[in-house]
Amino acid sequence: MHQLTLAEIARGLADKKFSSEELTKTLLARIAQLDPQLNSFITLTEDLAVEQAKAADARRANGETGALLGAPIGHKDLFCTLGVRTSCGSRMLDNFKAPYDATVVSKLAAAGAVSLGKTNMDEFAMGSANESSYYGPVKNPWNLDHVPGGSSGGSAAAVAARLLPAATGTDTGGSIRQPAALTNLTGLKPTYGRVSRWGMIAYASSLDQGGPLARTAEDCAILLQGMAGFDPQDSTSIDEPVPDYSANLNGSLQGLRIGVPKEFFSEGLDPRIAELIHTSIKELEKLGAVIKPISLPNMQHAIPAYYVIAPAEASSNLSRFDGVRFGHRCEDPKDLTDLYKRSRAEGFGPEVQRRILVGAYALSAGYYDAYYLQAQKIRRLIKNDFMTAFNEVDIILGPTTPNPAWKIGAKNSDPVSAYLEDVYTITANLAGLPGLSMPAGFVEGLPVGVQLLAPYFQEGRLLNVAHQYQLNTDWHTRSPAGF
Ligand code: GLN
Repeated sequence: MHQLTLAEIARGLADKKFSSEELTKTLLARIAQLDPQLNSFITLTEDLAVEQAKAADARRANGETGALLGAPIGHKDLFCTLGVRTSCGSRMLDNFKAPYDATVVSKLAAAGAVSLGKTNMDEFAMGSANESSYYGPVKNPWNLDHVPGGSSGGSAAAVAARLLPAATGTDTGGSIRQPAALTNLTGLKPTYGRVSRWGMIAYASSLDQGGPLARTAEDCAILLQGMAGFDPQDSTSIDEPVPDYSANLNGSLQGLRIGVPKEFFSEGLDPRIAELIHTSIKELEKLGAVIKPISLPNMQHAIPAYYVIAPAEASSNLSRFDGVRFGHRCEDPKDLTDLYKRSRAEGFGPEVQRRILVGAYALSAGYYDAYYLQAQKIRRLIKNDFMTAFNEVDIILGPTTPNPAWKIGAKNSDPVSAYLEDVYTITANLAGLPGLSMPAGFVEGLPVGVQLLAPYFQEGRLLNVAHQYQLNTDWHTRSPAGF
């Protein structure tokens, strides 16, 4: 049963082949047996899950239908869940039980999805390897010595290991697409504003966006359908109608114009990945797509701009964790300053502290113009590059990451080398565009992803292209040995 996709689960439940309760209990047993190897969950909510599954079965018995009704999922542990610990992978929030549900959580629950628990993640979503979690690193099911990517690494590892058919993630600079690539999944970062951020603990508010991680594009369509939509509680949510993503997966790719930016194949890209990306391009050409070489001339400035803007916003967002209102408080503070200082020093791990320092520095008087304002100008140039490109092409294609998953610990002493792994993903966040990563093959037994980017609100186009590709390739069907 654990091999079933969301689409197959929906059919199985509708045909009464099994109940949501049976499926939920099977997956919970599988998690208990296998997750000790992976560490993909921070909190399991077994009782709640069985309760939700029974409720979903009762709704089906009453004639209700729906692709998510009774479907087991997991939530990245930065989506607030009423009465359940929501840690954000941090000691700071180890004792925090959310007093309300994030919009994503309540929408999916209303659609009948069954949440099995909260998945591990990089602390405050800062990272590309899931090594900065207070709860320990997550292992990649394809090779337990390697990272699963981050920051949604727990969601990715759990889905890749068939502990869950799908899970939520968030993507600030690549944290859905990059772990999807490194674990052989399909992951979609929606247009900024497509999915509500209400109740999603903020890292960098102008970049953060929630989205689905699953094995297939078809399943991403199902999960995104349950997540997307206008939310008056989130002032950056956009009031645009949500199309029926599942109904639009079968459009023909005849004449689809795919732009391939030369900057995506620069020095630094593993040549074995470049070869797999070219193979996937050929596959899409066979389906009728037309390839056009393009350029995104300001792409080389994306990493420096992102690593000013994201820490700047983080330093502001994380100022709320002061030992008074939320989370960790130090023992016996001498005075208020001591309370702030020690609570924050004890509650935040080294990567989070580094980002707060960088961000506060970039925003300080005298440096604001030199760093923050400059970075914002680059952001605009990058957006303009995309707008120019999308005048000529329907989709942009390239690698998701320059390298396959690295060994746990390999980049610990050099944070910049980890930041460089985001080179192909962060441009979409800076511009607010939707992006998808899907399986494209393997290098030394480790998965590789191909990335597709589309104009604003064209998530349906990404899913359509990915689904057609997956009907003609089988990379996405491979599962890791031992899982
Ligand atoms: N790796 C990037 C960072 O550390 C992106 C993380 C994310 O998308 N949440 O900021």
